[in-house]
Amino acid sequence: MADPGFNAFAMAQAQFDKVADLLELDESTRELLRNPLREYHFSIPITMDDGSHKVFRGFRSQHNDARGPGKGGIRFHPQETADTVRALSMWMTWKCAVVDIPLGGAKGGVICNPHNLSMREQEAICRGWVRQIAKNIGPIQDVPAPDVMTNPQHMLWMLDEYEAIHGAKYPGFITGKPVGMGGSLGRTEATGYGVIFTLREALKVKGIDPKDTTASVQGFGNVARHAIQLYTKLGGKVICVSSWDEADQASYSFRRISGINLDELMTITDKFGGIDKEKAKGLGYEVLSGGEWIEQEVDILIPAALENQVREDNVVKISPKVKFLVEGANGPTTPAADKVLIEKNIFVVPDFLANAGGVTCSYFEQVQGNMNYFWDKEEVLTKLDSKMTSAFHAVYDTSVKKKLYMRDAAYVISIMRVAQACHDRGWC
Ligand code: NAD
Repeated sequence: MADPGFNAFAMAQAQFDKVADLLELDESTRELLRNPLREYHFSIPITMDDGSHKVFRGFRSQHNDARGPGKGGIRFHPQETADTVRALSMWMTWKCAVVDIPLGGAKGGVICNPHNLSMREQEAICRGWVRQIAKNIGPIQDVPAPDVMTNPQHMLWMLDEYEAIHGAKYPGFITGKPVGMGGSLGRTEATGYGVIFTLREALKVKGIDPKDTTASVQGFGNVARHAIQLYTKLGGKVICVSSWDEADQASYSFRRISGINLDELMTITDKFGGIDKEKAKGLGYEVLSGGEWIEQEVDILIPAALENQVREDNVVKISPKVKFLVEGANGPTTPAADKVLIEKNIFVVPDFLANAGGVTCSYFEQVQGNMNYFWDKEEVLTKLDSKMTSAFHAVYDTSVKKKLYMRDAAYVISIMRVAQACHDRGWC
């Protein structure tokens, strides 16, 4: 999103085209799957706290719902674009298919910067977003969820608006709700933990003990923090994290060779994931430029911030020590960088497999909501582990059998499942 020359949708289509060739998909299936089935662009007029009026731009892209209702988060971001939303909706289709849950792919967004908006203004945007699209989303059509810079509170406002419009209770309209208001325990941890469940399996197939590994992480938000938490619990050592500093409009990396301490860093982090540089120095961290997280001499890299972060220009800076790249973020690696990762023989756990824990838990939230019976956290996380572990091994086995790069193997499984559903429905 930050780089105006980068187009996430072009990248998502390039990744799809490569695998469509591999699978020798027919023209009509390609045409259907390279683009969203439907998309909505709309204006959200808001009265600001100072009484002025402002119009925000909102989006929803429904890429494919052949396997079930659309599913995907809503991002609030100043550089949000229609193409980013399209790309993310396509990745959601593959993500739901790779973990084999009965959902399709969708994504939404609003061009805005919550850092500069009061809670009341954010609530007005949430309610305005729902009002513009209330007839085209819903529990059996398309189910939104939180994403970058949106949280359970935003989801609850959206649910409340949807229920007010439709005049009844629809807990299945949205996931990522607060616990106690229809949310699932474990949802906060799910994506980051899912990243580490797949990393743990990757290390296992390569015969490596997590205790003998080190990692560098880009991002210090929800995904990164929970990934760091579980990886550290497994015995791994994170030596570097990077995050965005809102005041400086720049990112920084924080390195401590003896290992970072998550709880300690949390105490000096603002609500958007920015870490206080001076306080970090006081705690013995070196403050480096934002890009340096990728240059660290570690075994594992975990990009968990935004898309387009591992590119042709910086992939060459990856240390020869690095053996694994586990993609917590969506679309962090460009196709050009992928070529270099293959040459460097780095084992990649691709985004839509590695970070599928979030949507899997959202699916569990819907299941629990439908039963009106909620599991304890351990049950949620055990079921999550089991889903993520089987998805990892299905992809890994395909990559070994067909001699494919992990990303291509994950695409092969997902695209075959979605194409089959489209064929079976007579769409292509
Ligand atoms: P978040 O808003 O909680 O955190 C984002 C983090 O990225 C923040 O710490 C911020 O400081 C950091 N950041 C932003 N720009 C940066 C930059 N240029 N350099 C370094 N750090 C930067 O978001 P999140 O929920 O943790 O999501 C992170 C990524 O994971 C996104 O790509 C998102 O789409 C993806 N993802 C999230 C979920 C989920 O359940 N939260 C699920 C699947 C995928």
